[in-house]
Amino acid sequence: MDNLTLEYCLKFPFSQKARKLVSLKVKSIEDLGKPQLLPAILLAEEKIMSAIKPSIKPGSPGPWLEILSYPIANIILSTINVRSLTYKYAVREAEKIASRWSADDLKALVEIGKEEFGVEAIVIGRDIKSVVIDLVSYIKLASCLGIGPISEQWDPSNRKITDGHVHVTVKEYIRLLKAKVKNHILEAASRPPASVPANILEVAGRIKNAYLRGVKHRVKPRTGKDPPCMRWLIREVDRGLTHISRFILAAYLLNRGKTVKETLEVFKQSPDYDEKISTYQITYIKRKGYLPPSCARLEELGICKKDETCGDIRNPLQYGRKR
Ligand code: SF4
Repeated sequence: MDNLTLEYCLKFPFSQKARKLVSLKVKSIEDLGKPQLLPAILLAEEKIMSAIKPSIKPGSPGPWLEILSYPIANIILSTINVRSLTYKYAVREAEKIASRWSADDLKALVEIGKEEFGVEAIVIGRDIKSVVIDLVSYIKLASCLGIGPISEQWDPSNRKITDGHVHVTVKEYIRLLKAKVKNHILEAASRPPASVPANILEVAGRIKNAYLRGVKHRVKPRTGKDPPCMRWLIREVDRGLTHISRFILAAYLLNRGKTVKETLEVFKQSPDYDEKISTYQITYIKRKGYLPPSCARLEELGICKKDETCGDIRNPLQYGRKR
């Protein structure tokens, strides 16, 4: 394999080209039991462990092992199946991958965006380049950036739009693509294979034990006034809530009279917690006065945990007030 292919696959280990390359060595999941794949498995283990303990620095054994370790790490994580760990890893890995990109890769970045994620974008400009993204693709990308609604900075209504295309700088396009890669890893690492070789089970068990030993105590669910759905979401915070679940919980807490600071406290156990971003997003939800969705919508989303205490309420905010 030539250096150009290796360089490309290192920059885009989630690409079709990288998958093809890996398939030369790993034809089936059983192949992961072969001793020659041990270095790549150990690298994948180190990479996941470094998401748990940042003091662990994975080695740099060269592009080929790095490329091989990408799908292997996803298989190990899907075997462990702990969402908060997967999230921590996905954020870190996407960051690492994107650190290999530069403005010189713009053409390839736009191509890969289309091929892998269906993002319709075009590079414009001669000397100072920028990117225009089809509005639907843009909204999908921007929603990968954080919790809750799209922030003001990324809100399409605050952007230049021409013929249904949103203008972004090269730096912004890279940031959007990095967020998409993070979500892509999250998805890939949440599909456990039907069976995995014993050595992978062993690695997964080791990592899981190390992780669970370090997990902080969970937030104690507040009982009494909160409905079952919200108590459940509060319990799940330290496992990592989805984008929409975080928005719903924040909107609920704020509307039940919690301050931004008190709401922030609930999210502190989140695996990807970032005080600055969370403060901004919660403040934004409060300022906009967003309400949590109706019980019917929460049921559709699989968040409703109705019991006899809910009665016939239509919105979690009515819990304990109207029966
Ligand atoms: S009925 Fe409403 S309040 Fe009760 S658990 Fe379901 S969504 Fe929550």
